[in-house]
Amino acid sequence: MASLAALLREVRACRVCAAHLPLGPRPVLRAKATARVLIIGQAPGTKVHETGIPWNDRSGDRLREWLQLDRATFYDETRIAIMPMGFCYPGVDANGGDRPPRRECAPLWHARIMALLPRIELALLVGSYAQARYLGDRRRATVTDTVRAWRDFAPAYLPLPHPSWRNTGWLKRNRWFATELLPALRERVHGLL
Ligand code: SF4
Repeated sequence: MASLAALLREVRACRVCAAHLPLGPRPVLRAKATARVLIIGQAPGTKVHETGIPWNDRSGDRLREWLQLDRATFYDETRIAIMPMGFCYPGVDANGGDRPPRRECAPLWHARIMALLPRIELALLVGSYAQARYLGDRRRATVTDTVRAWRDFAPAYLPLPHPSWRNTGWLKRNRWFATELLPALRERVHGLL
């Protein structure tokens, strides 16, 4: 079986969808075989692409606030693995919105990587793409409904909305997220760490 380090080197050399990536391939992910929590997000933005550090932006700040983790703990890859649905920055669409994660990426790499992460006990499914892949028919009609049903996916998965600042209104409208889900999320994650 390939080692995780060798597989990550292979991933970092990937150019499968290079022709579609406006800034070229730069896979951004991190993992060590001892990790117990896995964060599956969408795809890097420009700041993450530039720095090569996942969640190194305002969305990451909010995700760390949700988790009540400082940067040192959040980026301790021996404890937390971070693997988005698309590893490279996909660019923006005609309206200036983020393009979806490249569809080639997760089918190509995810199962191989997860096979080398035997200690993962909880995967945080951040946003609709991760929820679609990992919950399949079990996910609800909308992200809101899926997140609201978070208890149904325990203990392996916990769905979250994207922590984008564009979702601030969503957070205000769905108070249960802060009062019920976040305390449970923190307790579970801190317990695993
Ligand atoms: S998005 Fe994924 S499949 Fe496409 S080039 Fe990057 S690592 Fe390879």
